[in-house]
Amino acid sequence: MITGKPIAVQSVPTEKNDWQHQLTEMIQDLSALLDACGLSEPPAPLANMLAVGFPVRTTRHFASLITPGDWHDPLLQQILPWATEQVDVPGFSADPLQEREASPLPGLIHKYRSRVLLVPTGSCAIHCRYCFRRHFPYEGHRMGAKERAAILDYLSAHPEVNEVIFSGGDPLMLNDRSMQNWLTSLAGISSLTTVRFHSRLPIVLPDRLTPEFQRLLTSTRLQTVLVLHSNHAQELPEVLAQPLNALRAAGVILLNQAVLLRGVNDNLMTQAELSQRLMQLGVLPYYLHQLDSVSGAAHFAVSDNEALLLHNQMKEQLAGYLVPRLVQEIPDRPSKTWLP
Ligand SMILES: *Cc1c(COP(=O)(O)O)cnc(C)c1O
Ligand code: SF4
Repeated sequence: MITGKPIAVQSVPTEKNDWQHQLTEMIQDLSALLDACGLSEPPAPLANMLAVGFPVRTTRHFASLITPGDWHDPLLQQILPWATEQVDVPGFSADPLQEREASPLPGLIHKYRSRVLLVPTGSCAIHCRYCFRRHFPYEGHRMGAKERAAILDYLSAHPEVNEVIFSGGDPLMLNDRSMQNWLTSLAGISSLTTVRFHSRLPIVLPDRLTPEFQRLLTSTRLQTVLVLHSNHAQELPEVLAQPLNALRAAGVILLNQAVLLRGVNDNLMTQAELSQRLMQLGVLPYYLHQLDSVSGAAHFAVSDNEALLLHNQMKEQLAGYLVPRLVQEIPDRPSKTWLP
């Protein structure tokens, strides 16, 4: 007999916890984002997504950290496209870092003497509106076997390079098998000592930090460094404690870099909370970046004067190791520029 009761469906934990499965359930348009966050009646105009060319994207996990109904939530601000994105602002351009000129091969950026950036994938599980690579020509950087071989040859021919930095896109979007292939090849190049991953995936998809991933990072002769990209303590819930502890216990160096963003983390309390929360998780703050002047992101800009004032307040308030270096990327310099 049919009753009104719902039928209990057996849950399938392996699939639910599977990070790749979660990627298939990402939020990929503005109305779905607004629905997920319980939002209606915006206080200011939103962008016309047909004209923007950088779609809305986030995971269900990241959306769940946003306070429902709060248009000013600091996590929401990072992914919500306001109409002001579409206004041209002098000084803001598509390639503010002139990375195109520093790319000797597809997928490789060699700007600083001892380290290279490797861009193995153009995809991310979140689209941050402030992203300086939002206009990056990833199509020209597709990575097949030929490109991989050329990069490995380049690294062998450039012994001054001792560190490979996986950047993106988000390098943790690679599956473990691709990651293993890279690590095996890189470990075979004797001049390399270190491999570093810059990733926002632990923040938007903590389940990506699988035991298998931990094994990968610790079964190579190379020192491994994982640099998280978290901008706010609200992005660092307790689910991260166990996997980060496991990585740290296994010898992976854990650092964080943040971007200084107006309306998100441009005050002392927020920065102090971020540093303290990171320390609880065994992660040290590394860099606090001044925004790169990419078109569409001008509304996040904090002036250098305000940034320096905030940074000084942080120095007065926090232990030295909880104060990240305030840096800016200026094209044609041999390293990042420390402010002041
Ligand atoms: C930031 C960056 C690096 C790494 O610089 P560190 O100061 O070592 O963190 C390397 N290459 C490029 C192109 C970069 O933008
Ligand atoms: S995760 Fe990083 S690369 Fe991806 S959109 Fe955000 S800032 Fe850009």
